[in-house]
Amino acid sequence: MASSTKLNAKVPEGILENKWTKYRSTVHLVNPSNKRSLEILVVGSGLAGSSAAASLAEMGYKVKVFCFQDSPRRAHSIAAQGGINAAKNYQNDGDSVYRLFYDTIKGGDYRAREANVHRLAEVSSNIIDQCVAQGVPFAREYGGTLSNRSFGGTQVQRTFYAAGQTGQQLLLGAYSALQRQIGMGAVEMLTRHEMMDVVTIDGKAHGIIARDLISGKLERHFGHAVLLCTGGYGNVFYLSTNAMGCNVTAAWKAHKRGAFFGNPCYTQIHPTCIPVSGDHQSKLTLMSESLRNDGRIWAPKKKDDNRKAIDIPEEERDYYLERKYPAFGNLVPRDVASRAAKELCDAGYGVGASKMAVYLDFAANTERYGKIQANKKNIHNPTKEQIVQLGKEVIKEKYGNLFDMYKQITGEDPYELPMRIYPAVHYTMGGLWVDYNLMTTVPGMFALGEANFSDHGANRLGASALMQGLADGYFVVPYTIGDYLSEEIRTKAIPTDHAAFVEAETKIQNMIDKLIAIKGTKSVDNFHKRLGKIMWDECGMNRSSKGLNEAIEKIKALRAEFWKDVRVPGSTNEFNSELEKAVRVSDFLELGELMCIDALQRNESCGGHFREEYQTPDGEAMRDDENFAYVSAWEYKSESDFELHKEELVFENIKIAQRNYA
Ligand SMILES: Cc1cc2nc3c(=O)[nH]c(=O)nc-3n(C[C@H](O)[C@H](O)[C@H](O)COP(=O)(O)OP(=O)(O)OC[C@H]3O[C@@H](n4cnc5c(N)ncnc54)[C@H](O)[C@@H]3O)c2cc1C
Repeated sequence: MASSTKLNAKVPEGILENKWTKYRSTVHLVNPSNKRSLEILVVGSGLAGSSAAASLAEMGYKVKVFCFQDSPRRAHSIAAQGGINAAKNYQNDGDSVYRLFYDTIKGGDYRAREANVHRLAEVSSNIIDQCVAQGVPFAREYGGTLSNRSFGGTQVQRTFYAAGQTGQQLLLGAYSALQRQIGMGAVEMLTRHEMMDVVTIDGKAHGIIARDLISGKLERHFGHAVLLCTGGYGNVFYLSTNAMGCNVTAAWKAHKRGAFFGNPCYTQIHPTCIPVSGDHQSKLTLMSESLRNDGRIWAPKKKDDNRKAIDIPEEERDYYLERKYPAFGNLVPRDVASRAAKELCDAGYGVGASKMAVYLDFAANTERYGKIQANKKNIHNPTKEQIVQLGKEVIKEKYGNLFDMYKQITGEDPYELPMRIYPAVHYTMGGLWVDYNLMTTVPGMFALGEANFSDHGANRLGASALMQGLADGYFVVPYTIGDYLSEEIRTKAIPTDHAAFVEAETKIQNMIDKLIAIKGTKSVDNFHKRLGKIMWDECGMNRSSKGLNEAIEKIKALRAEFWKDVRVPGSTNEFNSELEKAVRVSDFLELGELMCIDALQRNESCGGHFREEYQTPDGEAMRDDENFAYVSAWEYKSESDFELHKEELVFENIKIAQRNYA
């Protein structure tokens, strides 16, 4: 299969290990005085956006940054708990750049681009050095060296962490770097601003239309380049572990202006989340994958077992991940762990009131740690109570904030009882298609972090999103953007009364006016919830041709109903959070359809995309490498009309094989 002529991944020639080094030495540069007259718009100030904006401003470019929250510190990145990967091999356990590259390609079920993933593994170590220099308080061993733990899909310990608040600490680091540039006047920060559209002139991205969320006014902003660092779209499912504000609007509007959407159907369902407890919920809570270092996952061996967990004897427990996948045990990748939990619950082995949960149990490792502590403290013949108490202290130090969060939400104490967990929507591997330079199919428009279709193929390994977002922002785009901007040095700032700005603003104003004028009977949430249910039922953990075809029709009908019957109170020129939601949901209603179309054309199972028709006899995902080893990149034509372009994935450095974690 040859790649579509409309897609040029621009992967440099040469052997894999040398591509990035050679690229950096030969890429076109922009001299310092030209940098000062080039303006870059960075939309989003999570880890990807903050790191990019701080780096680009430090390099001398004029930077404007937008985010819809009241501070960059509130970006969803702050929620990241477990850690960030890097191939430092501090544990001397056999890690290397190649192994991180290999694990990521395999973990993604061989659906990612080799050159980008290798570059990610190469720069991973620099990220840790950069963050340590910024003062990020990574966990350390007693002797002062940085500590590591394991995450899924690997057999080494390469995850750096700051208790269960890694994202927050990394974001504070990136935010400080950004704030320094703001203080020096190199960055103009526009908080409470939502990008509503991209402005293209002569086929290139040259600005955005943003809405000031406080006054409701639309604004025009010019840039020589636009960077979308706007995060993932998991909230299309309504219930997810994402922050409530996460949305697809920026990426979707870019898509409608010519940016192809890559692999929209690849969604990550995380195995360890607090189960849904009822209809009233609007948010799900993650229990970090780091917990699988010490938590053992099990379900009762007997169906419909209503006994309490502690009353079920050891021999009547099925540690099913350890049984099925002994080589990786509880640390199999997320797609594998999630499917295994669902299978058991569907077969009647689930626990809790809903029976849609399994246990994550810390008792065995609490005891193990307790014994080690007793030895360290020279306590001879400790009692069971002493051992458990000492073990709890270790567990508390490692995961205390996560345990507190679990207790606050469920009312149960996980130091005493196993946690109940179930898979939930968590991350979107799909996003805007980008080439090696992180540029979309619209020249001058770049996508970074979770907003791009990323390096994770069909399934992301834990602790790799923070790595990718920071790699993109600190170490990749600062080089690759020069390749584009070196050709733009003669482009003078385009006045924002240009017809393209007027057209884009008018279009958005009309759309907003239309939403307000509907004055229907149903709330925005009503539509969002119904969309989420369709997506979860038919384009969630299991997908089928029949279900997807039905979902497409249901989404179209729901979208038509939305535009007739949604009720958006308030008016345009004021702070109006319902209006904000309505705009976002209107985009989700279009994206959802494309996700189903994408899932329908991919007649194979891979990673998080599990088509019921394509599974091995023992229920594992069955890929079809002959026909589907490609990235699907969708071009927007008109409503419900998308054209598929394929980027062939060539594996020259890794032998493509059936994934095996047993
Ligand atoms: C609960 C949880 C825990 C996680 N833990 C980990 C972990 O331990 N390790 C790991 O590697 N990954 C983890 N992840 C994933 C990781 O946190 C995210 O993938 C990553 O932080 C995304 O960063 P980002 O910069 O791409 O986007 P975000 O942090 O989502 O930032 C998006 C930015 O875009 C802005 N924005 C969005 N739309 C617009 C618009 N239209 N106009 C203006 N601004 C806009 C927002 O204001 C925000 O500033 C976790 C995810 C969740 C949900």
